[in-house]
Amino acid sequence: MRERIRAHGPIPVADYMAACLGDPTHGYYTTRDPFGAKGDFTTAPEISQIFGELIGLWTVAVWQQMGMPVPVRLVELGPGRGTMMSDILRATKVVPAFSEVATVHLVETSPLLQERQRETLAAASVPISWHADLDDVPNGATIVLANEFVDAQPVHQAVKRADGWHARLVGLDAGENLAFTLAPAADPAIAQSIPENLRDAPEGVLYEWRDEAPTKMLADRAARTGAALVIDYGHAEPGLGETLQALRAHAFVDPLETPGEADLTAHVDFSALARIAADVGARVDGPITQGDFLRRLGIDRRADRLKAANPEKAETIAAACARLTSPQKTGMGGLFRVIGFAAPSLGPLPALEPPR
Ligand code: SAH
Repeated sequence: MRERIRAHGPIPVADYMAACLGDPTHGYYTTRDPFGAKGDFTTAPEISQIFGELIGLWTVAVWQQMGMPVPVRLVELGPGRGTMMSDILRATKVVPAFSEVATVHLVETSPLLQERQRETLAAASVPISWHADLDDVPNGATIVLANEFVDAQPVHQAVKRADGWHARLVGLDAGENLAFTLAPAADPAIAQSIPENLRDAPEGVLYEWRDEAPTKMLADRAARTGAALVIDYGHAEPGLGETLQALRAHAFVDPLETPGEADLTAHVDFSALARIAADVGARVDGPITQGDFLRRLGIDRRADRLKAANPEKAETIAAACARLTSPQKTGMGGLFRVIGFAAPSLGPLPALEPPR
């Protein structure tokens, strides 16, 4: 990173984040399996099998709503260890008409995690293929799922100064350490892309945004061929302030301190996702909180049945469900949100509110 900055000058925050996570040799996801108690962070499917099972039932309900097209492509973006897909495929076996016609497409850039997914899904009875990009998934009726995928997509940052918005960059300080800096000139293009109600922000504030192309592609695909479900942590209204964060061994660290060795993510701006999806003609449902979504899908009833079948695990199951749904600080139920995109002809997606 130092050599790159010495040779070409400071790099935009988004390029820094992309390199830290995805560099083919040193990138965070390229070099490790980061999940679970021994890793850096824990995601919903790793907390409880119920999460993937409920998403599986949601998927079948959407497929029925779509008129049960054959074949149907079940696509997952950034499947991690493959745990959610494994739980989905087990749950959807209750509707053989679906599991007999579904083909699974995993979009994953990390060869190491692809291998992990292959192991997790070795016993699956549906055809599974891997792709580098959503664009590589063959056409046809499609349901796309993405859990904690968007938060890992690079964010741009800009800071408001008296003369306009300046891109935030990563450069080197006097001691050759990585350090944030600002582009010397204000960029009028940035000012244009900032939501109108935030443009008059006071000097010194920071704004974050992501490239629109991946969301356009996702929403366009949903609008043409089916539906998409995005689950992640983030905010429902456009906002100001820095959310870029680095996690290592379940603790926050300086995002510039150990490039490629810490997980880098930033809040997902669900209002931006909704706007981009609506612009390409998709039906948009939500966002609602993950807690509401899982409760509407029947998490409490599913947990009760699981507890009855495994009384010795009752406490663990209850704790996992609380973690998935609770709006308290320790839970994901409040900060995590769910948004759906769909073909306009499809009615409201299951468990998601119709648009206001
Ligand atoms: N969905 C999983 C993993 C989330 S971590 C879970 O909930 O446990 C993010 C995942 O997205 C990892 O598998 C990572 O390798 C993958 N990923 C990140 N950026 C990607 C990109 N641009 N294209 C494809 N996969 C990506």
